[in-house]
Amino acid sequence: MSKAPVLEIKGLNVDYGLGEEAVHAVRDVNLTLHRGEVLGLAGESGSGKSTLAYGLTRLLPPPGVISGGQVIYHSDDGEPVDVLSLSNEDLRAFRWAETSIVFQGAMNSLNPVHKVSTQLLDVIKAHDPTSTKAARVARAREMLKLVGISADRMDSYPHQLSGGMRQRVMIGMALALEPRVVIMDEPTTALDVVMQRQILSQLIELRERLGFSVLFITHDLSLLVEFSDRIAIMYGGRIVEEAPAAQLYGESLHPYSDGLLHSFPALRGPRRELTGIPGSPPDTRGMPSGCSFHPRCPKAFEPCADKVPLLGFPDRPGEQTRTVACWLHPAHEPVS
Ligand code: SF4
Repeated sequence: MSKAPVLEIKGLNVDYGLGEEAVHAVRDVNLTLHRGEVLGLAGESGSGKSTLAYGLTRLLPPPGVISGGQVIYHSDDGEPVDVLSLSNEDLRAFRWAETSIVFQGAMNSLNPVHKVSTQLLDVIKAHDPTSTKAARVARAREMLKLVGISADRMDSYPHQLSGGMRQRVMIGMALALEPRVVIMDEPTTALDVVMQRQILSQLIELRERLGFSVLFITHDLSLLVEFSDRIAIMYGGRIVEEAPAAQLYGESLHPYSDGLLHSFPALRGPRRELTGIPGSPPDTRGMPSGCSFHPRCPKAFEPCADKVPLLGFPDRPGEQTRTVACWLHPAHEPVS
């Protein structure tokens, strides 16, 4: 698998509101999605995950504003594109054709009064107006087949499909223009566990066949452990740990990651004690000082309440693949 970056998020800051009243929902986030990989992003509700997805795709509703940073997309020819400075017209082409997005509850985004075929054909036509109708129909049939829906359901209305099928249609739409990056924000949260796994297994199979990269956002770390190559953990608007999925699952360095891992039963190997995380996520209107996890952290010590730990490579042998922001493992080389 090539390790060239396809999407780089650099020092991204997203606020709600302006001036002194602004709430800092995403703070100084650095993340890189490589070609062909699944990068998982996990954290509790309110950690900033969805705001990050809306921010990097410039779909942030007001009063959300991007107050700093860059989102660099590396196209096929290697030319970097600054997504945050694209014109509206270029941005429209960029969405769907280069990057597509499946948001939480996307299955409810299908228009109830139009057949599935109409909606799929519209997406294809909007981005490829010169294509013939026959080519568009063939493409739409192919996309449905790819996501495991028989092409004879093309003429169904959304209410005639199950929730799982509607979500598959949305994933099919997201893949219709062969994007290189697919952003999925809680794509299967509304579905039952069996359907979730079926859809995600299918997505991974498609990724292997079509070669796109996935930024997969969820509060369910157990799904990420199973389906991601790497995992980033977000808390209080910041990335607090990032590591290959197996490494994080084997040993997490940040006490918050550890709490998340001990919030679901292990699928394989020895049983883990389920301890959960005490307290509630911080209120972004009044973030705790220092490490924002310190009021809930069982390992908090002297510097934690005053100084913000930087995300960086910990000073431990063999830790070149992981970054963490915790005073227990001070960064000897911060991420920039
Ligand atoms: Fe806990 Fe301190 Fe590490 Fe924050 S910096 S996670 S409070 S030990």
